[in-house]
Parts: sequence; C-alpha cells; structure tokens
Amino acid sequence: VKEHGRNSVRQFIPEMGATAISRLNMEGALRRGLERGEFALHYQPKIDLRSNKIVGAEALIRWHHPQIGLIHPIEFISLAEQTGFILLLGEWVLTEACRQQMAWQQQGLPSLKVAINMSSRQFRQEDLSERIAAIFAGTGADPRNFILELTESMVMQDVDSTLITLRALKNLGVAISLDDFGTGYSSLSYLRKFPIDELKIDKSFINDIHENPDDAAIASAIIAMALSLGLQVVAEGVERKEQADLLIGMRCNQVQGYYFGRPMEAASFAKAVSAQQDA
Ligand code: C2E
Ligand code: CA
Ligand code: CA
Ligand code: CA
Repeated sequence: VKEHGRNSVRQFIPEMGATAISRLNMEGALRRGLERGEFALHYQPKIDLRSNKIVGAEALIRWHHPQIGLIHPIEFISLAEQTGFILLLGEWVLTEACRQQMAWQQQGLPSLKVAINMSSRQFRQEDLSERIAAIFAGTGADPRNFILELTESMVMQDVDSTLITLRALKNLGVAISLDDFGTGYSSLSYLRKFPIDELKIDKSFINDIHENPDDAAIASAIIAMALSLGLQVVAEGVERKEQADLLIGMRCNQVQGYYFGRPMEAASFAKAVSAQQDA
C-alpha cells in the first residue's frame, strides 16, 4: 500500500475485498478499533529554519486494522465526523499525545511542541475547553507544549462563538494554529481579531513555488503578512530543497514536509530528535 495521498483511496478499496466496508460496518469497525487499541499517532517533524532543528511535531492519526492493515485518516475522518465518533476519537488523540509528550520529556528530549488536529465537530462543542482542560489535568501534561490546529472554515463558521472558544483555549495555555491557510475564505481582518499564534500555509501554495513565480509571490506575501502580525508561520508539504531554500529567503519560521521527515512512529521521531542533539 502506498504511503500517502489521494491515490490511497483507490488502492484501499480492492484490498478490502469481501469486507467492502459499508458505512455501517466502518462505523462499527471504528468503535471496535478504538476499544481494541488499533489507533496510533504518527509524528511528523516541524523544523525551525533558523536553527535547522526539530522543534516539534504534528500528531497524525493512523488506524492499524487487523485485516486491512494501515489505514490513513483520509479514509475515515469524514465518516467519523458525520457520525460524531470523532468526538471520542479526538479525546483519545489528545490523551495519547499528552502521554507521549510527557514520555519524551522523561526520556530527556528537549521540550517539544506537539500539534493536534481538531475537527470542526470537536471545535463546536460547547464545553470544549473544559474537556481539554480535563485531559491535561488527567494526564498531567503541560498545555504550553501543545498547539491546536484549526482550519479557516472551522473558525469562520460562527465568528462570535469562535472568539469565545479561542479565548477559553488560550487561557488554558495552548497555542492556536490556523491550518491549511489560504484554502478557505477567512476574512483577513479576523487574523487580527482572533487570538491565534501560528499560520500554516497550505501545501497547495508550496508545491510549485520553485517553478511558478505567482505561487512564490503568494507564499511570500502570506509569510510577510503573518510576520508583521507577530504570528509564527509554517510551510507544509515541503518536498524539495529548492522549496526550502526559497522559504528561508522569505523568512518563513518553520517547515514541515517529506523533505525534512515523513510522519513516523513515536520511537523513530524520538531517535531523530536525539540524533540532532548529539550532532
Ligand atoms: P493535514 O492536517 O493538512 O495534515 C497534513 C497531511 O499532509 C498529512 O496527511 C501528512 O502526512 C501530509 N504531508 C506532510 N508532508 C507532506 C509532503 O511533503 N507531501 C505530501 N504529499 N503530503 C505531506 P495525513 O496524515 O494522511 O492526514 C490527512 C488529514 O487527516 C490531515 O491533514 C488532517 O486534516 C486529518 N487528520 C490527521 N490526523 C488527525 C487527527 O488526529 N484528528 C483529526 N480531526 N484530523 C486528523
Ligand atoms: Ca494539520
Ligand atoms: Ca494542513
Ligand atoms: Ca489538510
């Protein structure tokens, strides 16, 4: 099975054969999978472009199905979102990331920031910040080591309640990142109004920056704007050295992408971090 991308959908279906997962089966399989411990988080390095070091990771969920094998989130997140299962899964994701972050600290790794993807259903829970606070309290993890990634469409849905939720989350100590930036329709004025800390420029703007001057101009403008608003700016989907070099020239803060490291199991991530400490 290929690692990534939209192609994996096509490759996934034939392999499922007789089990051809109907929506209903998939729902049950997800629930059982969570009970049986079939989910795992993989971690993709986030690299600071000034120090050229790993400063954190994005946690990305994977499903190790006993028959089908590795299943990527594109196959199940939207169903989980529709059925509401994402609420349970989302709590598992944060709990697991907290546990892992603390384990890395106990192993003596430098303090690493872990970014968590939030779904829109989670984000619209009335008691979201209480739920998140309870997970931090229960695991003992420090909220200041975590970044919550939200998409533009999520935050723009109801800007008044977004502002209330964001303030409550910020009070806990977590950082807020606007994911897939540029693909939604956020009014730029909200970048100022919302208490956000980071912008992640969507991969679609990064793909061709090394060969398309228009894309390079857009990326450069987003970076300049983010910096002038005092936000961290992260480019995602960096696959080539030429892209990284351009982003350095544009004063982008951080990068994430296959060129620097794929999403990997926690143990491999820890190895990559300690290797750079020894270097
Ligand atoms: P995303 O948040 O935009 O995550 C980035 C995706 O791009 C990840 O796919 C990552 O593996 C992939 N990627 C990273 N670098 C590169 C690169 O250089 N080239 C290419 N082609 N791809 C790259 P992944 O892990 O399959 O996740 C897909 C989406 O599923 C995520 O998009 C996110 O929206 C969602 N997702 C993943 N984990 C979670 C989770 O725990 N909770 C929720 N609610 N959603 C999740
Ligand atoms: Ca993300
Ligand atoms: Ca993204
Ligand atoms: Ca995305």
